[in-house]
Amino acid sequence: MRGTISGFYWGRKGILTGIMREFELIEQIRQTVGKPSKRVLMGIGDDCAVLHSPKARLLATTDCLVEGVHFDFSYMSAFEVGFKALAVNLSDIAAMGGKPLYALVTIGLGKGAEQSVRELYRGMSKIARDFSVDIVGGNVSRSPRQTFVDVSLIGQAGLHTHFRKGAKKNDLIAVTGHLGASAVGLRLLKTMGRVALSRYPTVSRAHLMPSPRVIEGNALGRLSGVTSLIDISDGLAADLQHILAASNVGALIEQDALPIHLQTEKACSELDGCTALECALYGGEDYELLMTIAPKYLAEVKRAVPKVKIIGQVLSASQGCVLRRANRVVQQLGLRGWDHLSP
Ligand SMILES: [Mg+2]
Repeated sequence: MRGTISGFYWGRKGILTGIMREFELIEQIRQTVGKPSKRVLMGIGDDCAVLHSPKARLLATTDCLVEGVHFDFSYMSAFEVGFKALAVNLSDIAAMGGKPLYALVTIGLGKGAEQSVRELYRGMSKIARDFSVDIVGGNVSRSPRQTFVDVSLIGQAGLHTHFRKGAKKNDLIAVTGHLGASAVGLRLLKTMGRVALSRYPTVSRAHLMPSPRVIEGNALGRLSGVTSLIDISDGLAADLQHILAASNVGALIEQDALPIHLQTEKACSELDGCTALECALYGGEDYELLMTIAPKYLAEVKRAVPKVKIIGQVLSASQGCVLRRANRVVQQLGLRGWDHLSP
């Protein structure tokens, strides 16, 4: 971290001035992050981290949260932003059947957020400890406008690495956890602010501090019967399309089988213009796992990950992607998810 922390010569702003403040900040971050595991020979405090490499394939991913695009400080605390910035990366490692190991963090502090470094790191460190991840270095800079937190994560592949490609006709389609909770949580937070947390705690927390399926992903990485795997970040419909396109297959999803939390149903009945089904299909940011399973391995997968719920079946590509509604009518399941690039 030392030598890579930049932007601390903001004398005119009077926020952090000179080398002493930089040392203080690095020390604060080091204390917040805590003692690294034995895998780390050198963590925060030199030009590079020095890390033991596992005798396995490595997984590498990066993802960032940007103020005004992915979050807003009006309803989200710096602690939660830090927590979530690491959570979304953990979810990608889980989505390959791997185990997360090392994180590097770049923070850009926007106007008004100059004092948030400690809280951002506290949030990140909380989830890092939960899943035995070492935060081994990073970089902090001032950002002229919005705040952002960019995390790079290195993980270790499991015995079986699961890709988006590999789904076969007649495989079962399954998910972990509930769908649509984060999307409705976001709507509630935007509508009523932090009150949403006390009125609808489960769905609000699903948005603010999602629980990535690290344990489940790691367990799935031991199994050969999983034929494809992805995490749901853009919504079930959009992420299912990634599997279908990569595997050149189609799918049938059963509306009745979609796992939707009671709070999602209740909140949607209170909010205008959203249904629980739409949230489950198109909501995004669930950070649950979506997979296809060869039917003869279903029992084995369920033993390893009891949370898994079957929601449909893989079809041939020519049969397309369809949804069987509760009234048994079958309709096309269109591609409409959260688009990170839209204004
Ligand atoms: Mg992903």
